[in-house]
Parts: sequence; structure tokens; C-alpha cells
Amino acid sequence: MLKRKPIVAGNWKMNGSVELVQSIANAVQNVNNQDVEIVVIPPTALLSNVVASGVVAGVQTVSEYDKGAYTGEAQASLVKSLGAKYTLVGHSERRSIFGESNEDVANKFAQAQANELTPILCVGETESQREQGQTEEVVAAQIIAVIDKLGIASLVKSVIAYEPVWAIGTGKTATPEQAQAVHKFIRDLVSKYDAEVSQTLQILYGGSVNESNSELLFAQTDIDGGLIGGASLKPDSFTCICESA
Ligand code: PEP
Repeated sequence: MLKRKPIVAGNWKMNGSVELVQSIANAVQNVNNQDVEIVVIPPTALLSNVVASGVVAGVQTVSEYDKGAYTGEAQASLVKSLGAKYTLVGHSERRSIFGESNEDVANKFAQAQANELTPILCVGETESQREQGQTEEVVAAQIIAVIDKLGIASLVKSVIAYEPVWAIGTGKTATPEQAQAVHKFIRDLVSKYDAEVSQTLQILYGGSVNESNSELLFAQTDIDGGLIGGASLKPDSFTCICESA
């Protein structure tokens, strides 16, 4: 079976400082796992600091526009030129707080790829959607919005992060079985379009991952690492999680 390289990406959200960049960079240097891609995704204002620290960097969102009169936005081309490798697109906080639709997310995905940033497409259901049995429908619509706009080949240089909204920042992690079931659903969905793309696609799990639960989650067949929020701000926890991938 094909081996996919695991990724552990830390989403700092609107947290962190110049000092934290240095402590995380020092901690990450000592991670005893050569096989994992470790990524730090700070607020955009700290992007250059992370790049200068030598850690692979990403941003939390990019504008869907090329450039121009869009106060407060950051264009993908600039983010790329500053040294970022990845950008999140469609994080649930961007969808729920900033009103990003599946179409907006697909536009950001396109901007990222047009500028050689690897998009990490975040998908996931809310608690009530899960309770109503809509998990697969919701996740499929979030992914198909990108495939319909950009084609299945666009998933080749991308990553998907499955993040159940009810597990983000709540301490309520999905069980390894619950997470694996949705990851398999995603891989099977992509496989209906292209079996090879589906086999190489890295699918990360996110939602209250910590150093006590990461090992079991990452051991699941279709889980290729994690997108880590709160625990990525703690150097010791983050390095343990990276070692378990
Ligand atoms: C996230 O912000 O993507 C996330 C998964 O957060 P947490 O790990 O804190 O649940």
C-alpha cells in the first residue's frame, strides 16, 4: 500500500507572539521523527518570523482576490513570496464567523494554487448536523464545491483536513473510529472521481487533538496526521504530537 507522508500543522488562530515562534522553533528542532512534515500556521503578521525560524510555515486564510482595494486582506502571491508553503482554506471559524460559503472557499483554494501555495481544505459538520445524520452530505458538499469549480486534478497538490466543528476547541475529540469512518468516506468519495488521487491525498484530522489522543487517531488507516489548534501553542504538547505522527 502507498505510504502517505504525515503532516502535523499547528493552527495558532489569533494567538502567539514573536517569543512563541522562537520557543516552538527550538522545540520542533528536537522532534525525534524524520518522517513527519511539521507546519506552523501563525497569524499572518508573524509569517516572516516563522519562515526565518526555519520551520515550514502556512497562513490561516488568503484573499480570494489577486490584489487591490480589499482592506485587511492578504493576497496569496504576497504570502507565497514571503515564504509560506501552505494556507488553510475554509476553516470552520472562517465559515461560521466570517460567513465564507463553499463557493468563497473554492475561490480561495483556486487563488492559493494559482500562486503555488498548497491549500489545506478544512471540512466538517456541526453537532446538530451530525445528530441529524447529515455528516456525509455536508462534508461531500464542501469537497465537491472545489472539484466542480477546479476539477479533480486540483486535489493533487492539496491537503484535506476533516475537522468536526463540535470537536474544535471543545475538548470533545472524535473517537478514532468516528474520525476514521469520515476519513474513509472522504477517500471513497474522491476515489469515485480518480482512484490514484484518492490514494495519494493526505487527509488530516483536527479537533481537540492532544498528546494523549494523537497516537491512536494517527494510527487509523486513512488519517495522515493532524491539524492542531490549542495544543500547538504549547511547545511540549506540540512536539509530542509531532512525534506520534
Ligand atoms: C483548529 O483550530 O483547527 C483546531 C482543531 O483546534 P483545537 O485543536 O483547539 O480543537
